[in-house]
Amino acid sequence: MAKPRSIQPYGNSLQVLMDDGSTFLMLPSGGSLWLVASETEATAPPPEPGSEGLSWPFPLSVVTDDYRIPSRPKHDGMDFSGGPAVDGAPIACAGNGVVWRVYDQTAQVGNCVVVDHGTIFGANFKTLYAHMKHYPPVKVGDPVIKGQTLGVVGNTGLSYGAHLHFEVWLNGSGGRAEKVNPRLYVS
Ligand SMILES: [Zn+2]
Repeated sequence: MAKPRSIQPYGNSLQVLMDDGSTFLMLPSGGSLWLVASETEATAPPPEPGSEGLSWPFPLSVVTDDYRIPSRPKHDGMDFSGGPAVDGAPIACAGNGVVWRVYDQTAQVGNCVVVDHGTIFGANFKTLYAHMKHYPPVKVGDPVIKGQTLGVVGNTGLSYGAHLHFEVWLNGSGGRAEKVNPRLYVS
């Protein structure tokens, strides 16, 4: 994983130059915008902002409980368990962004990470990854990329068996965000 080489003001944002030549802006909103993904891609045209969207942390084949199913109307996310989502399996970040919150063994979500993906398709998106086995290896403010390991599957917090509880938050922050059906926004 690349490390920051320099950080300097860029308008009302911060420009971060990584030691692999990639460059991104940390926006006042807490989001980020990649300018150059890597040195080898520097000559390629930049992607449309947010065009990469969000990807599943695990295949849908291992979903064990869906969003707000009739038997669990207050279940605001999707559960992934078994197969590639077995106890200790690395959890892949759904999209580029910045670590927004890290929770340490709270009663509900256990070891947990929330990533702010900034603006995608005109709205702010965050994703939550709960019940991790260990304290997450990322910290608040860390830039993260799609596919990066945010932690490993575990059974901490209010959980009965190792699984990933995954949520998608649309607009707003914390309790004000709307927890939406991930199937509508993740591909
Ligand atoms: Zn769940």
